[in-house]
Amino acid sequence: MPTDVVVVGAGPAGLTLANLLQRNGISCVVLEARDRSYVEERQRAGVLDHYGGRIFEQAGLADQVLAGAPLQTYLEFRYEGEPRLLDVAGLSGGRGGSIVPQQLLVRRLLTTFLDGGGDLRFNARDVELHALETSPRVTYGDVSLDCSYVAGCDGFHGVSRRSIPEDELTTYTFDHGIGWYTMLADAPPPKYPLMAMGRHGFAAQFPRGPFASRFYLQYKPGEEDPRTWPDEEAWDKLRLRLGDPALKGGAITDREIVEMRSFVVEPMAYGKLFLAGDAAHIITPMGAKGMNLAIADAHVLAGALTSAVRGDDAALRAYSDVCLRRTWDYQDFSRWFTEMVHDIDGDPFRRKLARARFERLFTNHPAAVAFADMMAGIELVR
Ligand SMILES: Cc1cc2nc3c(=O)[nH]c(=O)nc-3n(C[C@H](O)[C@H](O)[C@H](O)COP(=O)(O)OP(=O)(O)OC[C@H]3O[C@@H](n4cnc5c(N)ncnc54)[C@H](O)[C@@H]3O)c2cc1C
Repeated sequence: MPTDVVVVGAGPAGLTLANLLQRNGISCVVLEARDRSYVEERQRAGVLDHYGGRIFEQAGLADQVLAGAPLQTYLEFRYEGEPRLLDVAGLSGGRGGSIVPQQLLVRRLLTTFLDGGGDLRFNARDVELHALETSPRVTYGDVSLDCSYVAGCDGFHGVSRRSIPEDELTTYTFDHGIGWYTMLADAPPPKYPLMAMGRHGFAAQFPRGPFASRFYLQYKPGEEDPRTWPDEEAWDKLRLRLGDPALKGGAITDREIVEMRSFVVEPMAYGKLFLAGDAAHIITPMGAKGMNLAIADAHVLAGALTSAVRGDDAALRAYSDVCLRRTWDYQDFSRWFTEMVHDIDGDPFRRKLARARFERLFTNHPAAVAFADMMAGIELVR
């Protein structure tokens, strides 16, 4: 039996889409290259913005997805060690986000989809997409699935984007010239997400559950290699930049290097294939929009596919344009935020600009409200 939609990839985009389609009575099969424990344990993002939370509330999935998630209220900034609190929830009229670690969100979406009778196939290796312009067919191993539409939710390295002829896509990339060394550690979480800036460079500490923190340290790609830093050196840098000489080190359970790059492809569609999430765009972590963009794309796509299966494909034709507008707004916000908190090349002029931008958040109400509005997420489809 042909299915309405084959969803490639069971990350935040694919699982949000699959659950929303299931709720709308649209048949779908989800194909995931990795096994269940890999998908459920992959630690990445930690904040679901207000708009993301509303998507799950409106779909009747709040109990499954948001249960017990603490609200994000304040952000703490430290400039040269001096603390400043920004009431993001208050400034956005109560539209704060929720602290939901990505692996918890994924686990909950996965369980909800499977409990609802969903068809999710792990270890689906060597997925290939065929006849995307006419009658799509998706194959893996010796399995072949006919479908009306394909949703490419398989992340930056997936097969979906690569299945589109190169000359059909325009690619935009930007290298911010900044690296982050990130460590997940058994260290008491800060009360609020904490970002520190100053002449020694950026550092951050974000809560990851009741007993763990994720730490970030800015480094200069090409000049420094944090993988060679002994752990004690990393802890010393964190103490200095966070202005917290008493910060206790703890067991480090994960280390990663993140080079700050942005990437967008246009359009996010080809024939009957629609890209969502990291398959179409990646964004720097400043502003915490990567996972939220993936969920927002999935929400728009679920509505558009539902209408198309029921006979009206107008929303599907508008899908790419609608999602790209939000994508570029978030790219702009993320770059703005990145430049505010990082010491870029030790350039004194840029340092002054960054300081002015930062101070405006605490002295100019409209500037603070605009910041909080972007943190809450863009809800309106214009
Ligand atoms: C270190 C780090 C920190 C981050 N921090 C934040 C943050 O604080 N806030 C935020 O919002 N975002 C953050 N992000 C970004 C966020 O994690 C991603 O934007 C988000 O995971 C995108 O979701 P996705 O579903 O589009 O893609 P993914 O999460 O990449 O999921 C894609 C899925 O597709 C599967 N797949 C891949 N190829 C195939 C194939 N050929 N066939 C079948 N399946 C396939 C993969 O196994 C995976 O399960 C961070 C990312 C990193 C790396």
